[in-house]
Amino acid sequence: MASELRRAIAKILSIGLQISPDAVDVLARRKDALEIACKVVERLKELDEKPIVLTADLMFKLIQVEEAKQEEEEIDAEKIPVDEEVIFDPTQVIRSEGSAESFVSYFVSRYNKLKRIMLRERFDVRNAITISQIRKWSHRGKGTVKVICMVTGKRKTAERKIILELEDPTGSIVAVVNDRDPNVLSRAEKVIRDEVLCVEGQLVGDILLVSDIIQPEVPIPSVREKGSAPPVFAALISDLHVGSKYFMRSAFNRFLLWINGKLGVERYRSLARRVKYLIIAGDVVDGIGIYPEQEKELLVKDIKKQYRMAAEYLAQIPTHIRVIIIPGNHDATRQALPSPSIFRDCAEPIYRLPNVRVIGDPAYVKLHGVLFLITHGRSLDDVLATTPGVRYDKPAEVMVELLKRRHVAPIYGGRTQIAPEKEDYLVIDKIPDVFHAGHLHTFGYMNYRGVVIVNSGAWQEQTDYMKSMGIKPDPGKVTLVDLSNKRVHAILDFAKEKSVEMFSSLSAII
Ligand code: FE
Ligand code: ZN
Repeated sequence: MASELRRAIAKILSIGLQISPDAVDVLARRKDALEIACKVVERLKELDEKPIVLTADLMFKLIQVEEAKQEEEEIDAEKIPVDEEVIFDPTQVIRSEGSAESFVSYFVSRYNKLKRIMLRERFDVRNAITISQIRKWSHRGKGTVKVICMVTGKRKTAERKIILELEDPTGSIVAVVNDRDPNVLSRAEKVIRDEVLCVEGQLVGDILLVSDIIQPEVPIPSVREKGSAPPVFAALISDLHVGSKYFMRSAFNRFLLWINGKLGVERYRSLARRVKYLIIAGDVVDGIGIYPEQEKELLVKDIKKQYRMAAEYLAQIPTHIRVIIIPGNHDATRQALPSPSIFRDCAEPIYRLPNVRVIGDPAYVKLHGVLFLITHGRSLDDVLATTPGVRYDKPAEVMVELLKRRHVAPIYGGRTQIAPEKEDYLVIDKIPDVFHAGHLHTFGYMNYRGVVIVNSGAWQEQTDYMKSMGIKPDPGKVTLVDLSNKRVHAILDFAKEKSVEMFSSLSAII
């Protein structure tokens, strides 16, 4: 380790802070590592609440502020032309009929696509064989074998063993994970039905004794590509639920005032001028008949009226800002994934807005070369229900589970309906720069292997239904992603009326 880097790390550790591997990575690539470390330590002294771990994102946040101050003065998103390309929109391609046969071809497509991804991106699975070849290879005394397969069943035995039923197009096999290697066992605990992965093991009798489990995963980026996007923002929000009694009208109005440059101190108004895109990850309206007795919680009981109202709010977004909308499970669309864009006959006023683009779920959109994967996130419910160690109040970490499996809805037969399209459009075949979802109504963001993950929370207060389910929302947040460096620049909180430093001039305006 170069001595500059060692001194930089020592400096950070000296104030009782831990340092994450991605932060070490960043320092290792910089000639001015020690200088950065000193700056970070200085900035941390100013904070009331000290973090425990210094991550790369936190480091960027801490030391970017001063550089950002000057930039903000000059950038005006209104003068920057739109550079938006829809890379994938399911609306154009879906045509499922839903027969039993089409489910077979759907799962074959899922398997083949994920196998291809693994073979392309992972050196450690290139020698994988098929299930039908296992016996032959084992007889030749090859020892361990690797197979890329789909998990069709999983159970736990009394002796803490985990039994996995595995399948590929050539056959099926039962695999056993015992507690000899706690790492492998904990990986097996997280395995969910219908996911595609690579299992390494040795054939004992008819059973594959598992020695390793390898998920498709996201490759660790070697260098962060800079790109050439201007320093404008994509603002990420989701789950407005217009039409619900609990829609947070005043918080959303504060957001509209801010985005029009009419709220907050100058420093925050200048942030608004940098917003070029607004991405809404579904649940624009509360819908009708979505859950039992929803009627009692509706202010507007007509879906068209709900969309008309939503359009009135969105019409207040300045027209130089492009608005991209995908549907959620509360919107008027096909409930099964992939979902087409919100039905036009229900949401005509939204379609009429000149700066709005309505697409399906999941969607890939490129903004100035920065790739966004946008999905509402309804499968996050199923991931939460089946994966140990994830929590609904840490939604970005739940989204990581989708990235690791390279699939937007890995579980079939849970709460998420999946339509058996000929091709599995839910496979995450392109690694996005930004992965944006909502649905859980809690807010969270993180950087996972170079992918910025954001779950936007909501604009709806806790409903009685949520109360009965024990769900506490974390609403009113707007995440600003800087397209020039693909990082979260700021998170604005519009839920609280006072107590937010950014709105020190708030009382004068409202
Ligand atoms: Fe929602
Ligand atoms: Zn939802």
